[in-house]
Amino acid sequence: MSNAATPADWANGLHLTAGPYFLGLYQPSPETKDFWAGVELRELLLKFCAESGNWLHPKRIVCPDCGSDKLEMRRASGRGKVYSFSEVHRAASPAFAKSAPYVIGVVRLEEGVHLFTRIIPGSAPVKIDAPVQVDFRVLELGQLLPVFVVAA
Ligand SMILES: [Zn+2]
Repeated sequence: MSNAATPADWANGLHLTAGPYFLGLYQPSPETKDFWAGVELRELLLKFCAESGNWLHPKRIVCPDCGSDKLEMRRASGRGKVYSFSEVHRAASPAFAKSAPYVIGVVRLEEGVHLFTRIIPGSAPVKIDAPVQVDFRVLELGQLLPVFVVAA
């Protein structure tokens, strides 16, 4: 993306701006449409390779272990652990300002799949390896999304 209002001026240092950006409204693609259909039903679905028994990220179109493209959607446990996280105090967009501070991060599901997601402090604070459970909430942009709530 170019930003004509702030051209790169290498002699005086580069002025860094976020510029115009996309807010992340999800748009189901052919490989993720079944995942999002599951979200509408408040079910967390992952891809599963029947050939090798691997659980795969919803965006996968081929199993990385056996190369099979015969992937099916299966309901995941919805349980996992916090793999990494960041507490956002300065929202990247005015749309998120009222929610700050909020937590985003990566959850490792029991099935071994990692998902980038919103993490909600529940009965315990967000910490690495804290157990989490999926929930479905309408967030700032008005979309129903899977989030993970820290369990005790
Ligand atoms: Zn496989």
